[in-house]
Amino acid sequence: METLTEIKKRVFLFGDKKADGNSKMKNLLGGKGANLAEMSAIGIPVPPGFTITTEVCTEYNTLGKDIVINELKESVESAIESIEKTMGTKFGDSENPLLISVRSGARVSMPGMMDTVLNLGLNDQAVLGLVKKTNNERFAWDSYRRFIQMYGGVVLGMKPHTKEDIDPFEEIMEHLKDKRNIELDTEFTVQDLQDLVYDFKDAVKKRTGHDFPTDPWDQLWRAVMAVFDSWNGDRAKYYRKMHNYPGDWGTAVNVQAMVFGNMGTNSGTGVCFTRDAGTGENVFNGEYLIDAQGEDVVAGVRTPQQITKLGSQRWAELAKVEEADRAENYPSLEELMPSIYAELNEYQQKLEDHYSDMQDMEFTIQDGKLWILQTRIGKRTGAAMVKIAMDLFKEGVIDEKETLLRIEPNKLDELLHPVFDTKALKRANVIAQGLPASPGAATGQIVFFADEAKKFKNTILTRIETSPEDLEGMNVAKGILTARGGMTSHAAVVARGMGKCCVSGAGALKIDYKNRVLRVDGKEFHEGDWISLNGSTGNIIEGKVATMEPELSGEFGEIMELSDKYSTMEVRTNADTPKDAAIARNFGAQGIGLTRTEHMFFEVDRIKAMREMILADTVKGRKHALEELLPMQRSDFEGIFEAMQGLPVTVRLLDPPLHEFVPHQLATQKELAEDMHISLAAVKNKVAELQEFNPMLGHRGCRLGNTYPEITETQTRAIIEAALNLKEKGIVAKPEIMVPLVGTANEFIEQKKIITETANKVFKERNDSIEYLVGTMIEIPRAALMADKIAEHADFFSFGTNDLTQMTLGYSRDDAGKFLNVYLEKGILTHDPFEVLDQEGVGQLVEMGTLRGRSTKPNLKVGICGEHGGEPSSVEFCNKTGMNYVSCSPFRVPIARLSAAQAAIKAKA
Ligand code: ADP
Ligand code: MG
Ligand code: MG
Repeated sequence: METLTEIKKRVFLFGDKKADGNSKMKNLLGGKGANLAEMSAIGIPVPPGFTITTEVCTEYNTLGKDIVINELKESVESAIESIEKTMGTKFGDSENPLLISVRSGARVSMPGMMDTVLNLGLNDQAVLGLVKKTNNERFAWDSYRRFIQMYGGVVLGMKPHTKEDIDPFEEIMEHLKDKRNIELDTEFTVQDLQDLVYDFKDAVKKRTGHDFPTDPWDQLWRAVMAVFDSWNGDRAKYYRKMHNYPGDWGTAVNVQAMVFGNMGTNSGTGVCFTRDAGTGENVFNGEYLIDAQGEDVVAGVRTPQQITKLGSQRWAELAKVEEADRAENYPSLEELMPSIYAELNEYQQKLEDHYSDMQDMEFTIQDGKLWILQTRIGKRTGAAMVKIAMDLFKEGVIDEKETLLRIEPNKLDELLHPVFDTKALKRANVIAQGLPASPGAATGQIVFFADEAKKFKNTILTRIETSPEDLEGMNVAKGILTARGGMTSHAAVVARGMGKCCVSGAGALKIDYKNRVLRVDGKEFHEGDWISLNGSTGNIIEGKVATMEPELSGEFGEIMELSDKYSTMEVRTNADTPKDAAIARNFGAQGIGLTRTEHMFFEVDRIKAMREMILADTVKGRKHALEELLPMQRSDFEGIFEAMQGLPVTVRLLDPPLHEFVPHQLATQKELAEDMHISLAAVKNKVAELQEFNPMLGHRGCRLGNTYPEITETQTRAIIEAALNLKEKGIVAKPEIMVPLVGTANEFIEQKKIITETANKVFKERNDSIEYLVGTMIEIPRAALMADKIAEHADFFSFGTNDLTQMTLGYSRDDAGKFLNVYLEKGILTHDPFEVLDQEGVGQLVEMGTLRGRSTKPNLKVGICGEHGGEPSSVEFCNKTGMNYVSCSPFRVPIARLSAAQAAIKAKA
């Protein structure tokens, strides 16, 4: 038998103001375990417990459970003993039982992705001991029924069979509630709870064929294994895929003495945030429930109350509750338990100061004593991320560099999405009001089930409440709407993390899953009906609402300014039209890194001339057609140069294979034949002739310009004339003419000759001149290899990493979909190489191309213009390679600016 010979610490204790671990040990102890240890050490009241390391999870998966249990046995037994000592109770004792929770916790927080069991250690004897000890029958039986319910779900796999099913335990409870004509869990009598325990155990026996396990040690080990197993559950796997987390991290297991929020009106449980996770506002906020346990607040079992008085008043305003009614029936914790609130307020401040970032905390009040059960860096929307970072900077908590590093570049994208048009909102028909759980604007068709979120292009996932199983659907939907649950419900927290619009807890909604109907205010909405959500106000609106461009906050501008202070690379944009150019400039683009000219030819009036050019058999015929195109191109360039106001503009000469421009439908072919006064057969012949097996490896790029020099000539003329025209108007234009798809130095030299000759001709005609550059794209592997030779003649290089990736890997971009997903799923590839630059492989060519190019031309300007130019990790790579600029699509410019700054900061660190 294989054994774990290596001697290492697998179990770490915490509690009683001491701890074996600390917050830096997240990889080993998981985020939850590391922070429990840290809190314990800095004197925050944390129930005592221990953490089994993430390494054990990996051992469990590779070596199997027996070896692991064997190895752990001694240290777990002594750790339990240590908890017993602190708590003055005994695990498995029937008089004075120690109850524990078994909690998962990976190195990053994956809310609700893995499983937790509470109240473990109970059985038919221990529950009686608990009754005697606490003198609280109701509490003891409530804890027992909760334990069977959770253990049944997590360890014994008793989950609903189909999505229309409800949880088997919930079903039993609903049944009893109907029979007893009550609504809330808190209305169950002791007798009810005892009946539930009986019925639950019965359901377990029926479903699994075995009795519910009574031996606490047996319960404990099986729960530990179940937590390890949940690391490879579907939910956790999907979450890892979504965030690109590797599967070998594993989860830790935290075993901790229970504290009870369900001991009556002097007990409770809640969740709180040190700042607003939706807007970033610096206000302490959160929700709690009296006489409740664990996930009750998050799962939306009852409508939770607000922790602060301010929050409570804001809530009442939305819920249209009168102040007197609010204070009486929905008091805040601040009002109801002022001294507990004061203590909580002190801890939240202490923890935020300690971690210098917004915290998301869990707490429980057991019979008037406050316990903190978790703290972590709070998930937040893009807007909150920017505001919190800037505020912490202004408060002097973090410095400039740290402020920039706190911003996740891709999350800036959320801020750039459209918002509802204020005028359209005035006319909107609000059908109900929920809580503004996650800001944003969403319009879509109703779906009721997460796995149907793709049913329409834009969907609003409409649920009574969401659960971790719904993650994938939530990710796909445009917006999330729930009838139950507060600002800290699963739906709200997850939506904020995703930056997705969410309205939660809209109590007026009656959702009927079976018939797929949403009833509200006397109206019915069916699957497929359009509704809109305003995540900033909580309004639920009938039909679609028009949107408009968002207004960017002052903090956003400040972050961008700060980025430019630290970045050493320029950020340019890929823009083909003056409109795109203007958007990008607004976002701070410092030039255009790629203007594709082919799009200019597809407009109605131009495609005809273009086709005539292609179909012409003689140079003369081609020139004639090109002459028609010239003025149109020239005015396009004028528009773009003007929009960029003196910033450099890289124009790429015609690149795609010609067959993309000719008509493939009979009707259009006929039309063209008539227009050109040639036979249909001639058109058809030409179309057939242009057809290629591998058009991406075919007659395209500079191969066009080298076979039809007139094209290069005309395009150069259009560029240079446009620049001269602007010069007359007092506007500076800085064209950089870029030759695509070069593989040999001669290809480039030939093209450059035509460009220079044409430019000189135009200068002479106009008796004026401008400055311009001539460079090339490096997108064929051979060009990277021959970069020193090419650089002798080129003013600049721009890495076209789309083609370079395609040709280096030998994947066709258009067909790779057939296998890429499988490759990603199986881990053959870690990223889609067309999204994230393959740094190890393709990256070598980029590095080599840059080095060799600069070996013959030391000050060679180098940039990138593939899709990768706006992807944070690729931008970091470009910075390392010593590029002068990256270029990306207009809406990614802010992301690239921040990424460039982060890259520069990391490079110096
Ligand atoms: P998750 O990672 O899904 O948040 P947790 O492990 O934090 O799961 O536990 C789920 C719920 O149970 C939380 O509300 C937590 O505060 C509560 N809980 C966990 N352990 C204990 C405990 N020892 N005593 C009381 N409540 C607990
Ligand atoms: Mg938790
Ligand atoms: Mg290309």
